[in-house]
Amino acid sequence: MDFEHLPHPAPVPGESRQQAIADPGFGTLFTDHMVVIDYDADKGGWHKATLGPREPISLDPAAAVLHYAQEIFEGMKAYKHADGSLALFRPEQNARRFNASAKRMAMPEMPEELFLDSIRQLVSKDRDWAPTVEGGALYLRPFMFASEAFLGVRPARQYKYILIASPVGNYFKSGSKSVKIWISSDYVRAAPGGTGAAKTGGNYAASLVPQAEGIENGCDQVVFLDAVEKKWVEELGGMNLFFVMDNGRVVTPPLTGTILPGITRDSLIELLRGEGLTVSEELYSIDQWQSDADSGKLLETLACGTAAVVTPVGEVTGKDRSFTIGSGGPGQIATKMRERLTGIQLGTVEDKYGWVMKVG
Ligand SMILES: *Cc1c(COP(=O)(O)O)cnc(C)c1O
Repeated sequence: MDFEHLPHPAPVPGESRQQAIADPGFGTLFTDHMVVIDYDADKGGWHKATLGPREPISLDPAAAVLHYAQEIFEGMKAYKHADGSLALFRPEQNARRFNASAKRMAMPEMPEELFLDSIRQLVSKDRDWAPTVEGGALYLRPFMFASEAFLGVRPARQYKYILIASPVGNYFKSGSKSVKIWISSDYVRAAPGGTGAAKTGGNYAASLVPQAEGIENGCDQVVFLDAVEKKWVEELGGMNLFFVMDNGRVVTPPLTGTILPGITRDSLIELLRGEGLTVSEELYSIDQWQSDADSGKLLETLACGTAAVVTPVGEVTGKDRSFTIGSGGPGQIATKMRERLTGIQLGTVEDKYGWVMKVG
């Protein structure tokens, strides 16, 4: 599909842009442009792709997304390499997952090539927005929502796909220091048969109250347990978990439909195996987590995702328990894996797996 390029009347001047990307924060700064692609079941599906100025969108107040939350998104980063080129990390995995999410939310799938093309187009256009600060990247947010004006309950017939970009620094202000986790015992994130494996806004909406509860209790993030037995450790609001044992074994919860299949998770499994560690995808209970931490069998717990890369978990607190992992600070594996992964992404460590896609 051809992208129509719309002129930008007033892009941010170079000097202001440079100043802004020197300390980008996370998710508050945006580039000059965006991609919009329309879908209409009655017009042959995907049509009309534009790359134009980033601007407010106009929606009918009856747009289905505003009432029934038919919405999905992705999160990925473009990394600036030393030679000035920009690189994506396993973007075809994001394209695939976008379609898996679309299926679950009764939304149209998008050809993977069209998804990737939109990414390449925006990254090329806004390449000067990529920050070079340590831990920095151009965060890409593709999303799709039901735009049809209709209050009946059924899958919409019209959708909009939009791609925006945001220069970002470290997700946690503390950088790679360890985080403190709150165990949510009153709330769950996802139930069997629900939408936990889809990257859809509703999962995040449901996580905000427990997240606020965690912050009230002095924690950075929330860990969710399974909805049925409230026993098995699942994941954080936006990050997957790994448990590193003292015998070279690493455990991560299996993808049973209630956990988001993280691309960082999948990459870490490969990297850990490459280090000679045994990685098992198996259920791990909150009681086991505490007893392994207390006995010293558990050396480290890692949280991982695109935004925060690999972040060590130092302390875990809930209504009726509290424990520290290792010394409470970053462990060896967390530090090593963070360096390895960011090295591959930034082009300073050999990409044995073919994960990096240069955008030019
Ligand atoms: C996006 C997300 C992750 C991490 O996925 P990555 O592909 O590694 O960025 C983990 N959990 C949830 C709930 C998510 O939405």
